[in-house]
Amino acid sequence: MIQKVLIANRGEIALRIVRACRELGIKTLAVYSEADVQSLHVQLADEAICIGGPRSADSYLKADRIIAAAEIADVDAIHPGYGFLSENAKFAQQCESCNIKFIGPKSKTIQMMGDKSVAKDTVKKVGVPTVPGSDGPVENESEAVKIARKIGYPVIIKAVAGGGGRGMRIAHNDISFAKEYHVARNEAEKAFGNGSVYIEKYIEKPRHIEFQILADSHGKVLHLGERDCSIQRRHQKLIEESPSPFLTPDLRKRMGKFAIKAAEAAEYENAGTIEFLVDAKGNFYFIEMNTRIQVEHPVTEECTGIDLIKQQLLVANGEKLAFDQSDITFEKHAIECRINAEDPARNFVPSPGTIGLYYAPGGHGVRVDSHAYSGYTIPPYYDSMIGKLICFGHDRQTAIQRTYRALNEYLIRGIKTTIPLHKAIMSDPTFIEGKATTAYMEDFFARTPTDLFT
Ligand code: ADP
Repeated sequence: MIQKVLIANRGEIALRIVRACRELGIKTLAVYSEADVQSLHVQLADEAICIGGPRSADSYLKADRIIAAAEIADVDAIHPGYGFLSENAKFAQQCESCNIKFIGPKSKTIQMMGDKSVAKDTVKKVGVPTVPGSDGPVENESEAVKIARKIGYPVIIKAVAGGGGRGMRIAHNDISFAKEYHVARNEAEKAFGNGSVYIEKYIEKPRHIEFQILADSHGKVLHLGERDCSIQRRHQKLIEESPSPFLTPDLRKRMGKFAIKAAEAAEYENAGTIEFLVDAKGNFYFIEMNTRIQVEHPVTEECTGIDLIKQQLLVANGEKLAFDQSDITFEKHAIECRINAEDPARNFVPSPGTIGLYYAPGGHGVRVDSHAYSGYTIPPYYDSMIGKLICFGHDRQTAIQRTYRALNEYLIRGIKTTIPLHKAIMSDPTFIEGKATTAYMEDFFARTPTDLFT
């Protein structure tokens, strides 16, 4: 069995991994930046090593220092969490060559699925429906316009190396296309060091529905149901839930089968996610695969009762999945709200600083995954998510009412957060009726006075 794991991450996910390891009797090593000395994962891990300055580029993205820490502390495995180096094929490869288990898929799978255009081709070959679009990246403007016309406007220009909702531009005609094509390439070059873009049909008002995959190293690939992540602001998820209020049992079954096919085509191992867009008629299209644990994984854990982080550790240890597809049942409805240190009244500008009083809600059906506490100072250098509130119950209505109740109890003084926004959404009829698509937030902001969500 893996004896000791280095956690190459910070914040709530680092804490989540410490907790899973502890329950399995695995020792943990936290690596941290100078800005995270006070962080809970540093205090709760068995050992901790400072790896550099506050900026991610000086610490959490410094692969060599992380590998050096792993060697000094003699760990057997590295859990990358999400973000940072979690989808960096080179880092996974470095771990492989140093004989340290990377808790995730093989580096060649990360490489393949990390290029969104290659990923689309890979799953298309095994019959998984994909959004109509260019065959691979398009490097030349006049060729790009021709392809856009052929696909039919509106189209979306996407960075092959994109992620986190960045590097995407929408065009409605030839004129806007010419402009957005260059903007997208420049943005992609700046954000990802790779200016390659591809073109897709822009699906109007779709739902974002993704399937959780779990695969072992013995060829068993299962899905753990879906998460509806349609509540997004600027293509970034805010609220996720499972099951999706839109899917019929038949559609769920068909999408689940294709999700497994897609993962098999990637020779997938460990936990991963197959993302689809679904239009109003129920047509679904693969958009990408995330080759890591997702922020929203607790929603699936609460519905299925399966601890995904523990499963990741067991799979990395070479064990067979101890259950089959037919053993996976969906007993609950779960909703997750991302609690960000941002000011909804000022265009969601980050609101770092010291938390005065912190009081997390509890009670039946309430889970809080957070590294925040009273007196904790949120550093300005990282993502603004400071916690996740996950509420669950036997049906959707119970989960919504429970989320609203828990949000009212949640106290985070001294900084601005997205809690008031979540309260407004939980009492909004469109959300309650289960009718929200990815266009929901824009419409919500247009019709809701700012003081109702700040
Ligand atoms: P990222 O990797 O940056 O998260 P994704 O490919 O997962 O990017 O897309 C993020 C979001 O962007 C989707 O959930 C959806 O809201 C929107 N999106 C992406 N592709 C399309 C498309 N072809 N049509 C409409 N919306 C899209």
